[in-house]
Amino acid sequence: ALTYVILRSMNLSGMGDMGGITDGIFGKDKSKLVPKDSLPDVRFADVAGLGEAKREVLEFVDFLKNPAEHTRLGGKLPKGALLVGPPGTGKTLLAKATAGEVGVPFFSVTGSDFVEMYVGMGSSRVRQLFAQARKKAPCIIFIDEIDAIGKSRSNSRYSNDERENTLNSLLVEMDGFNPNEGVVVLAGTNRVDVLDKALTRPGRFDRQISIDAPDKKGREEIFAVHLKKIKLEESIEVIAEKLANLTPGFVGADIANVCNEAAALAARDVDKKFVDMNCLEQAIERTIAGLEKKSKVVTDEERKVVAHHEAGHAVVGWFLEFTDPLLKVSIVPRGKAALGYAQYLPKDKYLVSKKEYEDRITMALGGRVAEEIIFGEISTGASDDLDKVTN
Ligand code: ADP
Repeated sequence: ALTYVILRSMNLSGMGDMGGITDGIFGKDKSKLVPKDSLPDVRFADVAGLGEAKREVLEFVDFLKNPAEHTRLGGKLPKGALLVGPPGTGKTLLAKATAGEVGVPFFSVTGSDFVEMYVGMGSSRVRQLFAQARKKAPCIIFIDEIDAIGKSRSNSRYSNDERENTLNSLLVEMDGFNPNEGVVVLAGTNRVDVLDKALTRPGRFDRQISIDAPDKKGREEIFAVHLKKIKLEESIEVIAEKLANLTPGFVGADIANVCNEAAALAARDVDKKFVDMNCLEQAIERTIAGLEKKSKVVTDEERKVVAHHEAGHAVVGWFLEFTDPLLKVSIVPRGKAALGYAQYLPKDKYLVSKKEYEDRITMALGGRVAEEIIFGEISTGASDDLDKVTN
């Protein structure tokens, strides 16, 4: 899948992996420890794009409605499928909508809920969950972040007994239930590679349905879904297209967040009757870099260094052939981008050539060079760039 850092920040403390823009925005409710089912009211129409994934999941759960037809010629019914893709791409939403479409109860749990608990609780919760599900069958169970339980046992240097017990119970439960009972287990993960092989064996999660981060068209469709909920001046199509252009690298959860934030921002201004482009752009910036830190005291001297550093990237990028167009440079301190950041508009593409990499490296070093030329020395702000170049 395409991964591209749209954000290069100048950061003293190290910004970590910006791939996870959505981390922490959608915190999971830890209080829902006893699994409860619900009859979801979401439908496929609420899930934008993901056409192929929808078809695959629907085909997969189709037998819930009519098991006899599927076993007529001796075939076995499936039990589990993995929805594989980055966080925030709509795996939970898709699983829920599937239950909604088929009209069956939906249980949603998160892998980390099982392992963060007291000793012995993980496995007992797994048993509880399956016992509940059997009572409600036909139904769909969704286990988000299954890698939290299902990490390969042999790969970990330090054994984690609690997690292994939980994983074992899950395997036992998966083997134990008869597919004719009508319980389907869907699980979300971004890391199939770390999953224990036992989980992906036939009869368990033996199918993989991939859910990629949306391309421009996909983002446009997701914006269209979420913009419906807010009051706009222009037509949804026009705005959705503009916004899709401004948000490379965003996943569905980011987009939902932008629309919410924009509506909240607009509501603060009593004179505003609509959510305008200005609010939407501000919301995008917040989603990328976090809230503006008014309290953060940056000295004039530091601000000058940051400005020259960021300008260095911009100027070098301007003269290179293969760098992405620059959208904006900011030296406003924000939550995630501590001192400043630059936002680019990368194209949706999957292959990167050597020349393109060379240009990216050159641009990444532009900030450092600018500091050297102007101030005669380099600050720690360049360390983040060096990490990227090294990668
Ligand atoms: P995941 O399970 O992959 O981490 P979620 O399903 O929890 O992602 O997505 C979080 C939110 O993001 C959803 O509740 C929805 O509002 C929005 N979202 C994500 N993908 C889509 C999509 N394809 N269409 C519409 N909304 C989406």
